[in-house]
Amino acid sequence: MTVNVVWFKRDLRLADHEPLSDAAGEIEPTILLYVIEPVRLNQPDTDPTHIAWELDCANELDKSLRKIGGSLRIVHSNIIDCLKQIHREHGINSIYSHQETGTTWSYERDRAVKKWCEREKVSWREYPVNGVVRGLKDRDLWKGLRDKRMRTSPISPPTRINTVGNEVVKPTLSSMGLTPRKLSHRPPPGEDAALDTLQSFLASRGELYRWRMSSPNQASHHCSRLSPYFSTGCLSIRTALSMTNQRKAKIREAEITEKRKSNWMKSLSSFQSRLAWHCHFIQKLEQEPTLDYLAMNEELDSRMVREYDKKIFSAWATGNTGWPFFDACMRQLISTGWINFRMRAMIMSVSSYTLWQPWRDSGLHLARLFLDYEPGIHWSQVGMQSGTTGINSIRAYSVLKQGLDHDPEGEFIKTWIPSLRQVPTEFIHEPWKMPLSIQKDVGCLIGDDYPSPIVDESSSRKAGVAKAYSARRSQESREASKRVYSKHGSRKRRARKNRPKPEQSTQTKLF
Ligand SMILES: Cc1cc2nc3c(=O)[nH]c(=O)nc-3n(C[C@H](O)[C@H](O)[C@H](O)COP(=O)(O)OP(=O)(O)OC[C@H]3O[C@@H](n4cnc5c(N)ncnc54)[C@H](O)[C@@H]3O)c2cc1C
Repeated sequence: MTVNVVWFKRDLRLADHEPLSDAAGEIEPTILLYVIEPVRLNQPDTDPTHIAWELDCANELDKSLRKIGGSLRIVHSNIIDCLKQIHREHGINSIYSHQETGTTWSYERDRAVKKWCEREKVSWREYPVNGVVRGLKDRDLWKGLRDKRMRTSPISPPTRINTVGNEVVKPTLSSMGLTPRKLSHRPPPGEDAALDTLQSFLASRGELYRWRMSSPNQASHHCSRLSPYFSTGCLSIRTALSMTNQRKAKIREAEITEKRKSNWMKSLSSFQSRLAWHCHFIQKLEQEPTLDYLAMNEELDSRMVREYDKKIFSAWATGNTGWPFFDACMRQLISTGWINFRMRAMIMSVSSYTLWQPWRDSGLHLARLFLDYEPGIHWSQVGMQSGTTGINSIRAYSVLKQGLDHDPEGEFIKTWIPSLRQVPTEFIHEPWKMPLSIQKDVGCLIGDDYPSPIVDESSSRKAGVAKAYSARRSQESREASKRVYSKHGSRKRRARKNRPKPEQSTQTKLF
Protein backbone atom coordinates (compact mmCIF):
# COMPACT_ATOMS: atom_id res chain seq x y z
CA MET A 1 0.00 0.00 0.00
CA THR A 2 1.26 3.49 -0.82
CA VAL A 3 1.68 6.14 1.87
CA ASN A 4 0.86 9.81 2.30
CA VAL A 5 3.42 12.24 3.67
CA VAL A 6 2.65 15.15 5.96
CA TRP A 7 5.54 17.54 5.53
CA PHE A 8 5.76 19.74 8.63
CA LYS A 9 7.46 23.05 8.05
CA ARG A 10 6.87 26.03 10.32
CA ASP A 11 3.65 24.47 11.63
CA LEU A 12 4.82 22.27 14.49
CA ARG A 13 1.46 21.57 16.12
CA LEU A 14 -1.50 19.18 16.15
CA ALA A 15 -4.35 21.68 16.53
CA ASP A 16 -5.69 23.74 13.62
CA HIS A 17 -3.48 21.85 11.20
CA GLU A 18 -5.55 21.13 8.11
CA PRO A 19 -2.95 19.08 6.20
CA LEU A 20 -2.51 16.80 9.23
CA SER A 21 -6.24 16.44 9.86
CA ASP A 22 -6.93 15.66 6.22
CA ALA A 23 -4.13 13.10 5.99
CA ALA A 24 -5.27 11.49 9.26
CA GLY A 25 -8.70 10.95 7.67
CA GLU A 26 -7.29 9.00 4.68
CA ILE A 27 -7.09 5.19 4.43
CA GLU A 28 -3.40 5.17 3.52
CA PRO A 29 -0.89 5.24 6.36
CA THR A 30 1.03 8.46 6.80
CA ILE A 31 4.65 9.37 7.24
CA LEU A 32 5.02 12.50 9.36
CA LEU A 33 8.11 14.32 8.25
CA TYR A 34 10.13 17.24 9.52
CA VAL A 35 13.25 18.13 7.55
CA ILE A 36 16.12 20.37 8.54
CA GLU A 37 17.55 21.25 5.16
CA PRO A 38 21.30 21.84 4.72
CA VAL A 39 20.56 24.67 2.24
CA ARG A 40 18.73 26.50 5.03
CA LEU A 41 21.61 26.12 7.46
CA ASN A 42 23.81 27.97 4.97
CA GLN A 43 21.53 31.00 4.66
CA PRO A 44 22.88 34.27 6.12
CA ASP A 45 19.68 34.85 8.10
CA THR A 46 19.76 31.43 9.79
CA ASP A 47 21.27 31.12 13.24
CA PRO A 48 21.94 27.86 15.12
CA THR A 49 19.72 29.29 17.89
CA HIS A 50 16.73 29.13 15.50
CA ILE A 51 17.45 25.49 14.70
CA ALA A 52 17.90 24.57 18.38
CA TRP A 53 14.50 26.09 19.16
CA GLU A 54 12.79 24.41 16.21
CA LEU A 55 14.34 21.05 17.03
CA ASP A 56 13.04 21.29 20.59
CA CYS A 57 9.57 22.22 19.29
CA ALA A 58 9.71 19.30 16.82
CA ASN A 59 10.65 16.91 19.64
CA GLU A 60 7.65 18.15 21.64
CA LEU A 61 5.44 17.52 18.61
CA ASP A 62 6.87 14.02 18.35
CA LYS A 63 5.85 13.36 21.97
CA SER A 64 2.29 14.54 21.27
CA LEU A 65 2.06 12.48 18.08
CA ARG A 66 3.13 9.34 19.95
CA LYS A 67 0.11 9.73 22.21
CA ILE A 68 -2.18 9.31 19.18
CA GLY A 69 -0.30 6.47 17.52
CA GLY A 70 2.13 8.46 15.36
CA SER A 71 5.71 9.64 15.45
CA LEU A 72 7.62 12.42 13.77
CA ARG A 73 10.44 11.48 11.43
CA ILE A 74 12.99 14.24 11.99
CA VAL A 75 15.79 14.25 9.44
CA HIS A 76 18.70 16.43 8.36
CA SER A 77 18.58 16.16 4.59
CA ASN A 78 17.71 17.75 1.31
CA ILE A 79 13.90 17.46 1.04
CA ILE A 80 13.96 15.93 -2.43
CA ASP A 81 16.46 13.22 -1.38
CA CYS A 82 14.22 12.49 1.54
CA LEU A 83 11.07 12.24 -0.59
CA LYS A 84 12.89 10.07 -3.12
CA GLN A 85 13.87 7.62 -0.40
CA ILE A 86 10.31 7.37 0.96
CA HIS A 87 8.97 7.01 -2.57
CA ARG A 88 11.43 4.15 -3.25
CA GLU A 89 10.54 2.37 -0.01
CA HIS A 90 6.75 2.83 0.03
CA GLY A 91 5.49 4.79 -2.96
CA ILE A 92 4.05 8.20 -2.11
CA ASN A 93 0.45 8.86 -3.01
CA SER A 94 0.12 12.48 -1.77
CA ILE A 95 2.17 15.03 0.12
CA TYR A 96 0.23 17.28 2.52
CA SER A 97 1.79 20.52 3.68
CA HIS A 98 1.17 24.15 4.43
CA GLN A 99 2.36 26.77 1.98
CA GLU A 100 5.47 28.57 3.11
CA THR A 101 6.16 32.28 2.76
CA GLY A 102 9.91 32.52 2.99
CA THR A 103 12.89 34.05 1.26
CA THR A 104 14.30 33.01 -2.11
CA TRP A 105 15.81 29.69 -1.03
CA SER A 106 12.47 28.27 0.20
CA TYR A 107 10.64 29.66 -2.83
CA GLU A 108 13.10 27.87 -5.13
CA ARG A 109 13.03 24.74 -3.01
CA ASP A 110 9.23 24.62 -3.37
CA ARG A 111 9.52 24.98 -7.14
CA ALA A 112 11.93 22.04 -7.22
CA VAL A 113 9.56 19.94 -5.06
CA LYS A 114 6.67 20.81 -7.36
CA LYS A 115 8.66 19.67 -10.40
CA TRP A 116 9.65 16.43 -8.67
CA CYS A 117 6.02 15.74 -7.75
CA GLU A 118 4.89 16.34 -11.33
CA ARG A 119 7.58 14.04 -12.69
CA GLU A 120 6.80 11.28 -10.20
CA LYS A 121 3.01 11.78 -10.45
CA VAL A 122 2.77 12.46 -6.73
CA SER A 123 0.06 14.92 -5.76
CA TRP A 124 1.11 17.78 -3.47
CA ARG A 125 -1.76 19.30 -1.51
CA GLU A 126 -0.68 22.69 -0.19
CA TYR A 127 -2.83 24.56 2.33
CA PRO A 128 -2.82 28.27 3.14
CA VAL A 129 -1.18 29.47 6.36
CA ASN A 130 -2.93 31.81 8.80
CA GLY A 131 -4.17 34.89 6.91
CA VAL A 132 -1.71 34.82 4.02
CA VAL A 133 -3.36 34.58 0.61
CA ARG A 134 -1.38 33.17 -2.31
CA GLY A 135 -1.71 34.50 -5.85
CA LEU A 136 -2.81 38.09 -5.11
CA LYS A 137 -1.30 40.89 -7.20
CA ASP A 138 -2.35 43.73 -4.90
CA ARG A 139 -4.18 44.34 -1.63
CA ASP A 140 -7.70 45.04 -2.87
CA LEU A 141 -9.16 41.70 -1.80
CA TRP A 142 -6.73 40.63 0.88
CA LYS A 143 -8.43 41.94 4.03
CA GLY A 144 -11.82 40.44 3.16
CA LEU A 145 -10.27 37.06 2.39
CA ARG A 146 -8.16 37.07 5.54
CA ASP A 147 -11.08 38.06 7.78
CA LYS A 148 -13.29 35.39 6.24
CA ARG A 149 -10.69 32.73 6.97
CA MET A 150 -10.25 33.97 10.54
CA ARG A 151 -14.01 33.81 11.19
CA THR A 152 -14.08 30.03 10.72
CA SER A 153 -13.37 27.83 13.76
CA PRO A 154 -9.94 26.32 14.35
CA ILE A 155 -9.70 22.64 13.36
CA SER A 156 -9.57 20.15 16.25
CA PRO A 157 -6.43 18.04 16.58
CA PRO A 158 -6.68 14.47 15.22
CA THR A 159 -7.34 11.81 17.88
CA ARG A 160 -5.65 8.97 16.00
CA ILE A 161 -3.11 8.72 13.21
CA ASN A 162 -1.91 5.66 11.37
CA THR A 163 1.78 6.03 10.64
CA VAL A 164 4.24 3.72 9.01
CA GLY A 165 8.01 3.42 8.58
CA ASN A 166 11.01 2.60 10.68
CA GLU A 167 12.31 4.86 13.41
CA VAL A 168 15.23 6.92 12.11
CA VAL A 169 18.11 8.31 14.14
CA LYS A 170 17.23 11.91 14.91
CA PRO A 171 19.76 14.62 14.10
CA THR A 172 21.20 16.58 17.01
CA LEU A 173 22.78 20.00 17.06
CA SER A 174 26.23 18.47 17.32
CA SER A 175 25.57 15.97 14.50
CA MET A 176 24.70 19.00 12.34
CA GLY A 177 27.79 20.88 13.55
CA LEU A 178 25.75 23.65 15.17
CA THR A 179 26.59 25.60 18.32
CA PRO A 180 23.70 27.87 19.31
CA ARG A 181 24.23 30.78 21.66
CA LYS A 182 22.86 30.07 25.11
CA LEU A 183 19.83 32.27 25.69
CA SER A 184 18.77 33.47 29.11
CA HIS A 185 15.03 33.11 29.84
CA ARG A 186 14.37 31.03 26.72
CA PRO A 187 10.67 30.06 26.68
CA PRO A 188 9.71 26.38 26.97
CA PRO A 189 9.23 24.81 23.51
CA GLY A 190 6.18 23.23 21.90
CA GLU A 191 2.45 23.48 21.41
CA ASP A 192 1.42 22.93 25.06
CA ALA A 193 3.79 25.67 26.19
CA ALA A 194 2.38 27.97 23.49
CA LEU A 195 -1.16 27.40 24.79
CA ASP A 196 -0.04 27.96 28.40
CA THR A 197 1.60 31.23 27.34
CA LEU A 198 -1.55 32.38 25.55
CA GLN A 199 -3.69 31.40 28.53
CA SER A 200 -1.53 33.27 31.03
CA PHE A 201 -1.69 36.34 28.77
CA LEU A 202 -5.48 36.14 28.50
CA ALA A 203 -5.97 35.39 32.19
CA SER A 204 -3.72 38.05 33.73
CA ARG A 205 -0.60 39.34 31.94
CA GLY A 206 -2.54 40.98 29.12
CA GLU A 207 -4.76 43.30 31.15
CA LEU A 208 -2.37 46.25 30.84
CA TYR A 209 -0.92 45.18 27.48
CA ARG A 210 -1.99 48.32 25.67
CA TRP A 211 -0.30 50.62 28.17
CA ARG A 212 2.80 48.56 28.91
CA MET A 213 3.84 47.20 25.52
CA SER A 214 6.25 50.06 24.73
CA SER A 215 8.41 50.00 27.82
CA PRO A 216 11.13 47.35 27.62
CA ASN A 217 11.00 47.03 31.42
CA GLN A 218 7.34 46.04 31.42
CA ALA A 219 6.74 44.66 27.93
CA SER A 220 8.50 41.39 28.64
CA HIS A 221 5.75 40.56 31.15
CA HIS A 222 2.71 42.29 29.62
CA CYS A 223 3.22 41.41 25.93
CA SER A 224 1.91 38.03 24.87
CA ARG A 225 5.42 36.61 24.15
CA LEU A 226 3.84 34.35 21.55
CA SER A 227 6.12 35.32 18.67
CA PRO A 228 8.56 32.36 18.87
CA TYR A 229 5.56 30.01 18.93
CA PHE A 230 3.98 31.67 15.90
CA SER A 231 7.22 31.57 13.95
CA THR A 232 7.57 27.80 14.45
CA GLY A 233 3.82 27.36 14.07
CA CYS A 234 3.29 25.81 17.52
CA LEU A 235 0.14 27.94 17.58
CA SER A 236 -2.04 29.19 14.72
CA ILE A 237 -3.19 32.80 14.51
CA ARG A 238 -6.78 31.55 14.22
CA THR A 239 -6.52 29.65 17.52
CA ALA A 240 -5.10 32.74 19.24
CA LEU A 241 -7.88 34.91 17.80
CA SER A 242 -10.62 32.48 18.69
CA MET A 243 -9.43 32.10 22.30
CA THR A 244 -9.15 35.89 22.57
CA ASN A 245 -12.74 36.27 21.31
CA GLN A 246 -13.95 33.76 23.90
CA ARG A 247 -12.14 35.67 26.62
CA LYS A 248 -13.63 38.95 25.39
CA ALA A 249 -17.14 37.49 25.56
CA LYS A 250 -16.57 36.50 29.21
CA ILE A 251 -15.15 39.92 30.09
CA ARG A 252 -18.09 41.64 28.43
CA GLU A 253 -20.51 39.55 30.52
CA ALA A 254 -18.61 40.33 33.71
CA GLU A 255 -18.57 44.04 32.89
CA ILE A 256 -22.35 44.03 32.45
CA THR A 257 -22.91 42.13 35.70
CA GLU A 258 -20.45 44.23 37.70
CA LYS A 259 -21.50 47.48 35.97
CA ARG A 260 -17.89 48.59 35.51
CA LYS A 261 -15.45 48.71 32.64
CA SER A 262 -12.02 47.11 32.90
CA ASN A 263 -8.83 47.67 30.88
CA TRP A 264 -9.22 44.29 29.26
CA MET A 265 -11.30 45.12 26.19
CA LYS A 266 -8.94 47.83 24.96
CA SER A 267 -5.91 45.64 25.56
CA LEU A 268 -7.35 42.62 23.82
CA SER A 269 -8.48 44.69 20.84
CA SER A 270 -4.92 46.01 20.50
CA PHE A 271 -3.64 42.46 20.68
CA GLN A 272 -6.05 41.38 17.94
CA SER A 273 -4.83 44.22 15.72
CA ARG A 274 -1.30 42.90 16.12
CA LEU A 275 -2.46 39.45 15.10
CA ALA A 276 -3.84 41.05 11.94
CA TRP A 277 -0.52 42.84 11.38
CA HIS A 278 1.20 39.48 11.58
CA CYS A 279 -0.60 38.35 8.42
CA HIS A 280 -0.52 41.81 6.80
CA PHE A 281 3.28 41.93 6.92
CA ILE A 282 3.86 38.34 5.84
CA GLN A 283 1.57 39.01 2.88
CA LYS A 284 4.12 41.57 1.66
CA LEU A 285 6.84 38.93 1.39
CA GLU A 286 4.33 36.53 -0.17
CA GLN A 287 3.79 39.07 -2.97
CA GLU A 288 7.45 40.07 -3.20
CA PRO A 289 9.79 37.21 -2.17
CA THR A 290 12.97 39.26 -2.70
CA LEU A 291 12.44 41.66 0.21
CA ASP A 292 15.44 40.30 2.10
CA TYR A 293 17.85 41.69 -0.49
CA LEU A 294 15.92 44.12 -2.70
CA ALA A 295 14.18 47.11 -1.14
CA MET A 296 10.46 47.41 -1.83
CA ASN A 297 11.24 50.80 -3.39
CA GLU A 298 14.51 50.28 -5.23
CA GLU A 299 14.44 53.79 -6.75
CA LEU A 300 14.38 55.33 -3.31
CA ASP A 301 16.92 52.91 -1.85
CA SER A 302 19.40 53.61 -4.64
CA ARG A 303 19.29 57.30 -3.70
CA MET A 304 20.21 56.59 -0.07
CA VAL A 305 23.72 55.28 -0.39
CA ARG A 306 24.40 53.87 3.05
CA GLU A 307 27.95 52.75 3.62
CA TYR A 308 29.06 49.90 5.83
CA ASP A 309 31.53 51.03 8.48
CA LYS A 310 32.99 48.09 10.39
CA LYS A 311 33.70 49.97 13.62
CA ILE A 312 30.33 51.71 13.75
CA PHE A 313 28.41 48.60 12.76
CA SER A 314 30.16 46.51 15.38
CA ALA A 315 29.43 49.06 18.14
CA TRP A 316 25.75 48.98 17.11
CA ALA A 317 25.62 45.19 16.76
CA THR A 318 27.15 44.43 20.16
CA GLY A 319 25.45 47.17 22.21
CA ASN A 320 28.56 49.31 22.65
CA THR A 321 27.47 52.61 21.13
CA GLY A 322 27.93 54.60 24.34
CA TRP A 323 24.18 55.42 24.49
CA PRO A 324 23.05 53.51 27.57
CA PHE A 325 19.40 52.98 26.70
CA PHE A 326 20.23 51.73 23.21
CA ASP A 327 23.01 49.45 24.49
CA ALA A 328 20.74 48.00 27.17
CA CYS A 329 18.11 47.12 24.53
CA MET A 330 20.66 45.49 22.24
CA ARG A 331 22.20 43.56 25.13
CA GLN A 332 18.81 42.28 26.26
CA LEU A 333 18.15 41.13 22.71
CA ILE A 334 21.52 39.36 22.45
CA SER A 335 20.99 37.69 25.81
CA THR A 336 17.34 36.62 25.50
CA GLY A 337 16.54 36.60 21.75
CA TRP A 338 13.57 38.96 22.34
CA ILE A 339 12.83 42.67 22.71
CA ASN A 340 9.54 44.52 22.31
CA PHE A 341 8.33 46.13 19.10
CA ARG A 342 9.13 49.75 19.89
CA MET A 343 12.69 48.93 20.83
CA ARG A 344 13.14 46.81 17.69
CA ALA A 345 12.00 49.81 15.68
CA MET A 346 14.43 52.06 17.57
CA ILE A 347 17.33 49.62 17.09
CA MET A 348 16.69 49.47 13.35
CA SER A 349 16.19 53.20 12.92
CA VAL A 350 19.40 53.98 14.81
CA SER A 351 21.31 51.81 12.37
CA SER A 352 19.58 53.23 9.30
CA TYR A 353 19.31 56.95 10.09
CA THR A 354 21.64 57.85 12.95
CA LEU A 355 24.51 55.59 11.87
CA TRP A 356 23.56 55.46 8.17
CA GLN A 357 24.39 51.76 7.84
CA PRO A 358 23.03 49.50 5.05
CA TRP A 359 19.68 47.95 6.01
CA ARG A 360 20.54 44.49 4.75
CA ASP A 361 23.51 44.10 7.11
CA SER A 362 21.50 45.31 10.10
CA GLY A 363 18.50 43.23 9.04
CA LEU A 364 20.58 40.06 8.82
CA HIS A 365 22.19 40.70 12.19
CA LEU A 366 18.79 41.16 13.85
CA ALA A 367 17.31 38.15 12.04
CA ARG A 368 20.02 35.99 13.60
CA LEU A 369 19.43 37.49 17.04
CA PHE A 370 15.64 37.13 17.10
CA LEU A 371 14.46 33.77 18.41
CA ASP A 372 11.14 34.58 16.71
CA TYR A 373 12.65 35.38 13.31
CA GLU A 374 9.76 35.44 10.83
CA PRO A 375 11.01 36.49 7.37
CA GLY A 376 7.76 38.13 6.23
CA ILE A 377 7.38 40.35 9.28
CA HIS A 378 11.07 40.94 9.63
CA TRP A 379 12.02 42.16 6.16
CA SER A 380 8.85 44.23 5.82
CA GLN A 381 9.63 45.93 9.14
CA VAL A 382 13.29 46.39 8.23
CA GLY A 383 12.16 48.18 5.07
CA MET A 384 9.67 50.31 6.99
CA GLN A 385 12.06 51.31 9.74
CA SER A 386 14.87 52.15 7.32
CA GLY A 387 12.67 54.30 5.08
CA THR A 388 13.02 52.22 1.92
CA THR A 389 9.34 51.65 1.16
CA GLY A 390 8.43 55.27 0.39
CA ILE A 391 4.92 54.68 1.73
CA ASN A 392 5.65 54.93 5.46
CA SER A 393 6.47 58.02 7.45
CA ILE A 394 10.12 58.49 8.35
CA ARG A 395 10.55 57.32 11.93
CA ALA A 396 13.92 58.23 13.35
CA TYR A 397 13.93 57.47 17.06
CA SER A 398 15.82 59.61 19.52
CA VAL A 399 17.56 57.25 21.96
CA LEU A 400 17.46 59.88 24.70
CA LYS A 401 13.72 60.52 24.32
CA GLN A 402 12.95 56.79 24.29
CA GLY A 403 15.11 56.28 27.37
CA LEU A 404 13.49 59.13 29.31
CA ASP A 405 9.99 58.04 28.27
CA HIS A 406 10.39 54.34 29.03
CA ASP A 407 13.16 54.07 31.62
CA PRO A 408 13.33 57.43 33.42
CA GLU A 409 15.15 56.04 36.47
CA GLY A 410 17.52 53.90 34.41
CA GLU A 411 16.47 50.61 36.02
CA PHE A 412 16.41 48.80 32.69
CA ILE A 413 19.80 50.26 31.78
CA LYS A 414 21.29 49.08 35.06
CA THR A 415 19.87 45.57 34.58
CA TRP A 416 21.73 45.10 31.31
CA ILE A 417 24.85 47.23 31.76
CA PRO A 418 26.57 46.30 35.02
CA SER A 419 29.30 48.94 34.57
CA LEU A 420 26.66 51.70 34.87
CA ARG A 421 25.01 50.37 38.05
CA GLN A 422 26.53 52.98 40.35
CA VAL A 423 25.97 55.95 38.01
CA PRO A 424 23.63 58.57 39.58
CA THR A 425 20.18 58.79 37.96
CA GLU A 426 20.81 62.33 36.68
CA PHE A 427 23.61 60.99 34.43
CA ILE A 428 22.29 57.54 33.62
CA HIS A 429 21.11 58.46 30.10
CA GLU A 430 24.15 60.62 29.28
CA PRO A 431 27.03 59.25 31.38
CA TRP A 432 29.63 61.09 29.26
CA LYS A 433 28.39 64.29 30.94
CA MET A 434 29.49 63.02 34.38
CA PRO A 435 32.33 65.06 35.83
CA LEU A 436 35.54 63.04 36.06
CA SER A 437 35.44 63.15 39.86
CA ILE A 438 32.04 61.41 39.86
CA GLN A 439 33.22 58.90 37.25
CA LYS A 440 36.07 58.02 39.61
CA ASP A 441 33.79 57.90 42.67
CA VAL A 442 31.34 55.49 41.01
CA GLY A 443 34.07 53.41 39.37
CA CYS A 444 32.93 54.02 35.81
CA LEU A 445 35.41 55.84 33.60
CA ILE A 446 33.79 56.77 30.30
CA GLY A 447 35.88 55.51 27.39
CA ASP A 448 37.30 52.83 29.65
CA ASP A 449 34.62 51.04 31.72
CA TYR A 450 31.85 52.12 29.35
CA PRO A 451 32.30 53.50 25.79
CA SER A 452 32.11 57.16 24.82
CA PRO A 453 29.27 57.86 22.35
CA ILE A 454 30.21 56.52 18.94
CA VAL A 455 28.90 59.71 17.24
CA ASP A 456 26.85 62.70 18.35
CA GLU A 457 23.39 61.10 18.40
CA SER A 458 21.22 64.13 17.76
CA SER A 459 23.12 65.73 14.88
CA SER A 460 23.84 62.37 13.18
CA ARG A 461 20.17 61.41 13.37
CA LYS A 462 19.08 64.72 11.88
CA ALA A 463 21.65 64.38 9.09
CA GLY A 464 20.30 60.88 8.31
CA VAL A 465 16.72 62.13 8.22
CA ALA A 466 17.70 65.00 5.91
CA LYS A 467 19.36 62.57 3.48
CA ALA A 468 16.30 60.31 3.58
CA TYR A 469 13.99 63.25 2.78
CA SER A 470 16.18 64.41 -0.03
CA ALA A 471 16.01 60.91 -1.59
CA ARG A 472 12.23 60.86 -1.22
CA ARG A 473 11.81 64.12 -3.08
CA SER A 474 12.98 62.83 -6.46
CA GLN A 475 10.30 62.31 -9.09
CA GLU A 476 11.44 58.70 -9.70
CA SER A 477 11.16 57.84 -5.99
CA ARG A 478 7.67 59.29 -5.85
CA GLU A 479 6.55 57.36 -8.90
CA ALA A 480 7.99 54.18 -7.40
CA SER A 481 6.23 54.88 -4.08
CA LYS A 482 2.90 54.98 -5.91
CA ARG A 483 3.62 51.55 -7.39
CA VAL A 484 4.61 50.21 -3.96
CA TYR A 485 1.42 51.55 -2.43
CA SER A 486 -0.77 50.01 -5.08
CA LYS A 487 0.84 46.60 -4.55
CA HIS A 488 1.40 46.56 -0.78
CA GLY A 489 -0.41 49.43 0.90
CA SER A 490 -3.06 48.75 3.51
CA ARG A 491 -6.54 49.46 2.11
CA LYS A 492 -8.34 49.96 5.40
CA ARG A 493 -8.86 53.75 5.21
CA ARG A 494 -9.39 53.97 1.51
CA ALA A 495 -12.83 55.46 1.77
CA ARG A 496 -11.81 58.51 3.81
CA LYS A 497 -11.07 61.12 1.21
CA ASN A 498 -8.49 63.89 1.64
CA ARG A 499 -6.75 62.18 4.54
CA PRO A 500 -3.23 60.85 4.13
CA LYS A 501 -3.38 57.08 4.30
CA PRO A 502 -1.41 55.77 7.28
CA GLU A 503 1.25 54.17 5.14
CA GLN A 504 1.52 57.18 2.86
CA SER A 505 2.08 59.93 5.38
CA THR A 506 5.21 61.92 4.64
CA GLN A 507 5.53 63.68 8.00
CA THR A 508 8.36 62.89 10.37
CA LYS A 509 7.01 62.17 13.80
CA LEU A 510 8.99 62.91 16.91
CA PHE A 511 9.95 59.57 18.44
C1 LIG B 1 12.81 45.75 12.72
C2 LIG B 1 11.75 44.80 13.24
C3 LIG B 1 11.88 43.45 13.02
C4 LIG B 1 10.90 42.56 13.48
N1 LIG B 1 11.08 41.22 13.24
C5 LIG B 1 10.16 40.34 13.68
C6 LIG B 1 10.33 38.95 13.46
O1 LIG B 1 11.32 38.50 12.87
N2 LIG B 1 9.39 38.10 13.95
C7 LIG B 1 8.27 38.57 14.60
O2 LIG B 1 7.44 37.76 15.03
N3 LIG B 1 8.08 39.88 14.79
C8 LIG B 1 8.98 40.79 14.37
N4 LIG B 1 8.78 42.13 14.58
C9 LIG B 1 7.46 42.59 15.10
C10 LIG B 1 7.29 42.70 16.63
O3 LIG B 1 8.32 43.44 17.19
C11 LIG B 1 7.21 41.33 17.31
O4 LIG B 1 6.23 40.54 16.66
C12 LIG B 1 6.80 41.41 18.77
O5 LIG B 1 7.67 42.26 19.47
C13 LIG B 1 6.81 40.01 19.38
O6 LIG B 1 6.49 40.01 20.74
P1 LIG B 1 5.08 39.46 21.27
O7 LIG B 1 4.80 38.12 20.68
O8 LIG B 1 5.07 39.55 22.73
O9 LIG B 1 4.11 40.50 20.60
P2 LIG B 1 2.64 41.02 20.97
O10 LIG B 1 2.72 42.49 21.09
O11 LIG B 1 2.07 40.26 22.10
O12 LIG B 1 1.83 40.73 19.63
C14 LIG B 1 1.23 39.46 19.34
C15 LIG B 1 1.68 38.99 17.98
O13 LIG B 1 1.27 39.92 16.99
C16 LIG B 1 2.25 39.99 15.95
N5 LIG B 1 2.84 41.33 15.91
C17 LIG B 1 3.03 42.18 16.95
N6 LIG B 1 3.57 43.34 16.52
C18 LIG B 1 3.72 43.20 15.17
C19 LIG B 1 4.22 44.05 14.16
N7 LIG B 1 4.66 45.29 14.40
N8 LIG B 1 4.24 43.59 12.90
C20 LIG B 1 3.78 42.35 12.60
N9 LIG B 1 3.30 41.50 13.53
C21 LIG B 1 3.26 41.92 14.80
C22 LIG B 1 3.32 38.97 16.30
O14 LIG B 1 3.01 37.76 15.66
C23 LIG B 1 3.18 38.85 17.80
O15 LIG B 1 3.66 37.62 18.31
C24 LIG B 1 9.75 43.05 14.15
C25 LIG B 1 9.64 44.42 14.38
C26 LIG B 1 10.62 45.29 13.93
C27 LIG B 1 10.48 46.75 14.19
